[in-house]
This record gives sequence, structure tokens and C-alpha cells, in this order.
Amino acid sequence: MDSKTEAEINEKFKSATNRLVLLDYDGTLVKHTAIPDMAKLPAEISDIIRKLVHNPQTEIFIITGRGHEDIDKFLNHIPINIIAEHGAMVKEDGVWRNQIIDNFEWKKTIIPILNQITVKCAESFIEEKYFSLTWHYRNADPDLGYASSRELIHLLEKEIQAFNLKILDGNKVVEILTNETGKGRAVKKLFEQNQYDFILSIGDDVTDEEMFEYFLQHSNAFTIKVGEGLTFARYKLNNIKEVASLLKQLSE
Ligand SMILES: [Mg+2]
Repeated sequence: MDSKTEAEINEKFKSATNRLVLLDYDGTLVKHTAIPDMAKLPAEISDIIRKLVHNPQTEIFIITGRGHEDIDKFLNHIPINIIAEHGAMVKEDGVWRNQIIDNFEWKKTIIPILNQITVKCAESFIEEKYFSLTWHYRNADPDLGYASSRELIHLLEKEIQAFNLKILDGNKVVEILTNETGKGRAVKKLFEQNQYDFILSIGDDVTDEEMFEYFLQHSNAFTIKVGEGLTFARYKLNNIKEVASLLKQLSE
């Protein structure tokens, strides 16, 4: 992103009267860490977010695939709204609400498949969230991890159709969840309830693409992908530091 675009975003933000800011967490506000529990929000970003939260006429959400209790640990010192588990859980005004109806029968079929791959790929592990199952390979040997992830996706294909699930093929992670969830759907729901004249949406992973794609139809949306790769986002920032710098300008 060039400085002209940055200035334009800042100007549009300041002159808007009903703003929506959607920020992914891992890889966008904090570095991806080998141990997910270590991904604490740096004090500097924490201060910027706090200022934005108190900015009138601004609705700000952290939008993440993390489990809702998990993300709460990092953010409970800030009165911020959160969309967790790819939209399955939403926290507004301090209250968590479930957005999805699901009996989770599918987990009984999917867990053995994940176990089968985990046994073959050292240092990989399974995380069970309320609404999804996730297989992480960030600590595994990179080549074996990637190859195993392809094998896993292949094994899952049949079950995905049978149970109406979807696979998120993310950064060193494969996540299985019901088709009703996703950041794109979560964002669409917000739009059915409100009208915004400025939208800022920032994320770094494939799970954020649904959100960027949804915003293609909104001319007042600024979508930003952090890092390299093909994207539906209109703009790119190189790293977390640049995200912090942009948000800092908006918060002042
Ligand atoms: Mg991310």
C-alpha cells in the first residue's frame, strides 16, 4: 500500500459517520506463534485498539477462527466485540451468543480420520473447538506436514459432502466446520442489521478471503491482505508493524 492510499483511508475514516472495522487476530495483530497460547496482544496494539473501541460511530470487531474462550483470554481487558470460531460465536456488549444450530454428529466420523493422520505426522495435533475440528501442523516437519495435509484433505472429501461441512485449508492448519459458518457469512449478517459508510477489513489467511470477496460489491470497503499471496483484497500490507501503523493513524 502506498502512502497516498493510506492517506485516503485515513481521510475517509475521519469523515465517515458509521464505521465498521473488522480485524483478524493471528498474523494480523499478533505474530503466528508455535504455541497458540503465547499470542498475547502487544501493549502498543492493545492501546491503539482501545482508542478505536472508544471512538464514537465506530463498530469494531476482532474476527477470528479461534475458539471463543481462547480469544477471550487475550482480549478480556478491552471492551471489544468479537466474532470467533469463524462466525459461530459472537460477543457483543460483553455477552457471547451462539449463531449456529448443529448437532455435531459429524465429529464422530471426522475425529478418527484426524487421528489417523496425526499418528503419522509427528508434532502435529488436533484441536477441538465447540463448532469445529482443527488439525495443526505448524510444529511438524514442513514437508511431511504439507504432504499429510494433502492426504487429510483427500480423505475428508467424501465426508464433507455427506455432512454438509467445509474445509478451511489455512496456514499450517486444516479446519473442518459446518457449511453455515465462515467469516463471509458472519460479515453478511452484520450488513443485514446495519448500514455502514466506511468499512475496513484486514486479515492474512485464506479464511479472510470470504470476507474480502463479500466486500468486492461495496465501494466504501477497504480490504487489506497482510503478507504475500493471491487475494480478493484491494490492498496489501507487508506485516503486522504496517497494520499497527495504519490503525494508529486512524485512532488519533
Ligand atoms: Mg490470521
